[in-house]
Amino acid sequence: MNSELEFINKCKEKVLSGQKISKEEAAILINVSDESIEHLSRDANEITRKFNGDLVDVETLVNAKKGNCPEDCSFCSQSAFYKSGIDTYKLLPPEIIIDNARKAKEDNVKSFCLVCAWRGPSEKDFDQICDIIQKVNDNVGIQVNCSLGFITEEMAVRLKNLGVKRYNHNLESSRSFFQSICSTHTYQDRVNTAQTVKKNGLELCCGGIIGMGESRMQRLEMGLDLSKLSPEECPINILVPQKGTPLEFQKKLSLGEILRVVAVYRFLMPKTILKIAGGREIHLANDQEKVLLGGANGIITGGYLTIDGNTPKDDLKMVSQIGLET
Ligand code: SF4
Repeated sequence: MNSELEFINKCKEKVLSGQKISKEEAAILINVSDESIEHLSRDANEITRKFNGDLVDVETLVNAKKGNCPEDCSFCSQSAFYKSGIDTYKLLPPEIIIDNARKAKEDNVKSFCLVCAWRGPSEKDFDQICDIIQKVNDNVGIQVNCSLGFITEEMAVRLKNLGVKRYNHNLESSRSFFQSICSTHTYQDRVNTAQTVKKNGLELCCGGIIGMGESRMQRLEMGLDLSKLSPEECPINILVPQKGTPLEFQKKLSLGEILRVVAVYRFLMPKTILKIAGGREIHLANDQEKVLLGGANGIITGGYLTIDGNTPKDDLKMVSQIGLET
């Protein structure tokens, strides 16, 4: 076995024995030669199976309030700064959200995430959201998660008391790249909200987007910061360039780059649900199993906030075909 493969094995053994790999070791892992990526993925898969079993976390989203967001995130077609041409709407009525939750439950999907495009909820919007969550609890009975932007401690407590399990708030990118993609809020604003979520007893779902022009080392930088936050779930989105946004013509990442990130994030966060999220169908096409056998153990099904995705039926079939469970 060559020295590179021996190094990957050594790091794997370290993680399997409950130790953390260092920043320097993670940097060597993410930079292995192309020939060693398969081995890196295999070892990441071994770590996944040891700490998480064969279960794949499957979730659906509902975009409860779409577009016209006052923030200028350059990857996002929901920002009011760009002419992306998407249809926009205010907070959906409770009946529509309840129907979506019921459908997710009928499709055997385990959790349902309510997402709103705004900087953070106003008091009035937040009251309405709480009312909707209560109605979903009373009428459907599915695990409800939320992604509502910046929230206060009081809001986090209220969501927790309503039985919300997990709150999503992504770092989006690394600290050193963040200013290139957003000027209306800071990276630290995002870290602060992630910490508020944890501090108030909600599970944290926190990840980001790769393929926005950041370097490989900046992808690692984000992974290192994410691992410090100890999220229960980490979504990895792969940029799907959106018409009218500054990243419309961004070059695609190669499969190898995607596999490196997924594998190394698994070495850094052995017990986290590593969810391969937006961009999975478009970028991975016939290689979707490679990420689920290379460190990831979660997917979002049935489409995303502004783009379509696979149907739950097709995704559940794909998961069972590779010998994993949902
Ligand atoms: S990513 Fe979120 S905060 Fe940024 S523009 Fe889109 S909806 Fe708004």
